[in-house]
Amino acid sequence: MSTSEPTISIRDFCKSYGEDIAADHISFEIPAGRILGLIGPNGAGKTTTMRALTGIIPSSGGTLNVCGYSIDENPLEVKQRTAYVPDDPRLFNDLTVREHFAFTAGIYNVDQWHERMLELAARFDLTEKLDARAADLSRGMRQKLAICCAYLYEPRALLLDEPMTGLDPRGIRMLKNSIVEQAERGAAVIISSHLLAMVEDICNHVLILEKGRTRFHGSLEELRAEFAGNQSDTTLEDIFFKTVESTPVPIVDLPPTASGPFVTG
Ligand code: ATP
Repeated sequence: MSTSEPTISIRDFCKSYGEDIAADHISFEIPAGRILGLIGPNGAGKTTTMRALTGIIPSSGGTLNVCGYSIDENPLEVKQRTAYVPDDPRLFNDLTVREHFAFTAGIYNVDQWHERMLELAARFDLTEKLDARAADLSRGMRQKLAICCAYLYEPRALLLDEPMTGLDPRGIRMLKNSIVEQAERGAAVIISSHLLAMVEDICNHVLILEKGRTRFHGSLEELRAEFAGNQSDTTLEDIFFKTVESTPVPIVDLPPTASGPFVTG
């Protein structure tokens, strides 16, 4: 791969389920070191795009490449360089946390993984759970373990589908910092999320999808210039509602909360 070639390149990606079109000629590129926020209403085609890029589902048309390799023609080359963490990670329930690291290190040929496992486990508060079975982890811990396994082999393309789901506030901050670090070490990152403030915090670019079609693709500055007259105080959430064709949701003024102790019963 030449250095100028983007790490992730998707051209005219289409996916149909019978009559339903889940992705309609989606195209974008992500160079090394950049973070793309993939946003859009439920059913927009975000998960479909990530699953097709990793070969979990076949595309109906277009090309999907990682590091110059096509998922159709060189699926192994793509999979060796890519990590996909879905929002409901499938773990091996009877394997321990430590065994998940060992298994991942084995299939991705990671040397010196033990030290790296200890670092990641400490960072994501999993040290005390190294010998626990995946079946006995909480939802947030399962999510953290899947993310740690993805980080273990330092993928060139990192795809995170709703990665904050189930994480506590400390976990969310830790994850945000770690995603930025992954980009700094040269990964091209896609984050699909409905948490628009988080996307605004850490993404360089956004791709807004709606019903399988691209509504916008560009930097946050370009997004503001196009939809908010360059007003820097306009949030991504404000712009999101201007961009997608949904019925406006009013902001309701909530009554002031009563002070004093909670009363139950
Ligand atoms: P969400 O925000 O709810 O996760 P999404 O943007 O990730 O949504 P997708 O899961 O990509 O949306 O779904 C895009 C469209 O494809 C939807 O209309 C969905 O019903 C359809 N779809 C997804 N998977 C299948 C499937 N296996 N069979 C049929 N239709 C599917």
